[in-house]
Amino acid sequence: MAMKHIGVIGLGAMGLGMAKILVERGFTVRGCDLSSERQRLAQQAGVTIAAEPSSLYAVCELVVASLPKAADVAGVVEGPAGFVARGRPDAIFVDTSTSEPRVSRKLAAACGTRLGFLDAPVSGGPQGAKTGTLTFMVGGDKEVMERARPVLTALGNKIIHVGASGAGNVAKLVNNLLVAANLASVREAVALAAAAGVPAEDVLTAINAASGRSAVTEVNYTRWILSERFDSGFTMGLMRKDVQLAAKLGQDVGSFGAVSALVSDLWDASAQGLGDGEDFNKFVIAPGSSE
Ligand code: NAD
Repeated sequence: MAMKHIGVIGLGAMGLGMAKILVERGFTVRGCDLSSERQRLAQQAGVTIAAEPSSLYAVCELVVASLPKAADVAGVVEGPAGFVARGRPDAIFVDTSTSEPRVSRKLAAACGTRLGFLDAPVSGGPQGAKTGTLTFMVGGDKEVMERARPVLTALGNKIIHVGASGAGNVAKLVNNLLVAANLASVREAVALAAAAGVPAEDVLTAINAASGRSAVTEVNYTRWILSERFDSGFTMGLMRKDVQLAAKLGQDVGSFGAVSALVSDLWDASAQGLGDGEDFNKFVIAPGSSE
């Protein structure tokens, strides 16, 4: 049966873009957010606003969540008004939040076989969300992912099944730990070059044509850091959350190396000079950084 009615819970930097593109691609979209300003923006884009997630669950065949933390996701899945209690038979919950693998596994188990649950965190930022070009890292049942595919392909162009429930969030946390580590190492490399007489622009032109290049040197430095725009749409607060979750995961599974520990300490320390609402690229100019 073709999916038509889609719910989106969390209409923030990511969720609003996803809701808009679903409307553009012909789905009937109902949305929910705690913020009246986000509700207003979504309404302007053709999204019908629901007061509570439970009123989405009554009609939607698939619900996308884009919420800050695992506890927020659990809050709308569990409990008497949650997806487990109120979801239509065979409905699917696609959690695109960067969340905790342990929580994803618990929520997938609670959905059982009557409902579907995928942990499907994304990469691509608000730009990827509003253009339908996200990368999905999916954990959960492959058959459920196939049923969700029409919606996933409306939102993204790379849909990667990583493994069983929780595997999507393992991949996402490890990915973001790498981005965090890369920002820390590139800022040092750029500072070293500057101290040796080569400005950032010049050394990055060379690196981007050589083997030390990465998404951080090619995209972050060009688009958000050297331009001083710092408007990526991803905040220090969310990146610190991801680094902390990656560190916790590493400790839980007994695989937490020296580099990861140092990266985790550096991002924790950044809280002293940079508030949660700042762009995450400001890490490279944080007070106390070597630049
Ligand atoms: P955001 O803070 O901009 O949006 C979250 C929205 O959820 C807010 O509008 C908030 O009002 C709403 N909300 C919170 N609790 C709610 C609830 N119980 N019911 C309804 N609405 C609720 O965050 P974001 O940047 O859009 O990120 C969302 C998720 O996606 C996070 O887990 C983040 O780590 C992840 N993510 C973000 C990016 C990015 O570049 N921004 C990229 C990839 C993944």
